Formats: sequence, structure tokens, C-alpha cells
Amino acid sequence: MPVIGIGFAVAGLVLAFLGYRDLRDKRDPYDLSLLKEIHEEEELRNVRVPESTGDNVMCPACGEVYTNEFPICPRCGRSGN
Ligand SMILES: [Zn+2]
Repeated sequence: MPVIGIGFAVAGLVLAFLGYRDLRDKRDPYDLSLLKEIHEEEELRNVRVPESTGDNVMCPACGEVYTNEFPICPRCGRSGN
């Protein structure tokens, strides 16, 4: 009965495809773009959390306003001068 053999082959291909798609879907939530977003969110939080006890400085390179407690611009990393 060759039909049964073909049926098994097709079932195997379908299972392999579904398994591949399942793995890919599970991996998506952890892909690099999401990690980057989380990282950027944390960076923004870190920049805004410090108590502004010092004077504000505006970065001449990117326009970011930050306290002079930072030796360099927290956004672009350039010195304020
Ligand atoms: Zn800057």
C-alpha cells in the first residue's frame, strides 16, 4: 500500500513545518529588536531617575538636556564642551 507511505511522508512534512513554525514563534518574543527596546527603555529611565541637584546642561551635539553631574552627554556620549 504505497498510499500509506505517502500519507506518512506528508504527515511528517506537515509536522516538521508546524514544529519549525512553533519554534520560530516561540523565539520571536526574545528577538534582538525587543531586547534593544527594553535596553533603551532602561537607559531612558536611568537618565531621568537621577535627582536633579545640579544645573542642567544642554548637549551641543544632540540637544539632550542633562544635569552637570554627568561628565558626558548620557545620550550621545560627547563631552559638553
Ligand atoms: Zn549629546
